[in-house]
Amino acid sequence: MKKDKAVVVFSGGQDSTTCLFWALEQFKEVEAVTFDYNQRHRLEIDCARNITQELNVKHHILDMSLLNQLAPNALTRDDIPVLDGEEGELPSTFVPGRNLLFLSFAGILARGIGAKHIVTGVCETDFSGYPDCRDMFIKSLNVTLNLSMDENLVIHTPLMWLNKAETWEMADSLQAFDFVREKTLTCYNGIIADGCGECPACKLRENGLNEYLASKGEL
Ligand code: ZN
Repeated sequence: MKKDKAVVVFSGGQDSTTCLFWALEQFKEVEAVTFDYNQRHRLEIDCARNITQELNVKHHILDMSLLNQLAPNALTRDDIPVLDGEEGELPSTFVPGRNLLFLSFAGILARGIGAKHIVTGVCETDFSGYPDCRDMFIKSLNVTLNLSMDENLVIHTPLMWLNKAETWEMADSLQAFDFVREKTLTCYNGIIADGCGECPACKLRENGLNEYLASKGEL
């Protein structure tokens, strides 16, 4: 039997779209929340909106421009280049406190709409060094959220221990492989589907896709 209601933290990218399909299979009712923090590419918000409309999922867009005001970074500012972190440094795409804030607001939203479940596509396997994608952080925040509101919310992280190839496999098992491949936006240069092929996000996505297709003998 399907569990009741969930909120999916949704960016319109590969991971959160796969999570949205996962949630639609797991829960009776699903709503999505997208955070607007002046992402470089407004297209990300449009992409998220289009996907939720197509899947007939209620979509909340919350203004989080405060995050950019406090911590400008490569995802929000054209003059900060996208760079991988070197020798233990965090990459320039790291937004301090992002998941702390997003999941806290998702928790408040969940309480407001009577949802007991929150789904997020964070992943420790390919986490690029982001500390707020780690399982320990999510578990800690889950406890804190419940203590703060006297609730019993559960944060689900279906991708936590998957690599990118396994995330493609999950999309495929949810009959969402083509949808995720054609309609999601992962690329830091704002190019939908297979992307620019050059940026770190595209490379990660493409490597995972190729690994998955090779494992099925389709490459
Ligand atoms: Zn790209």
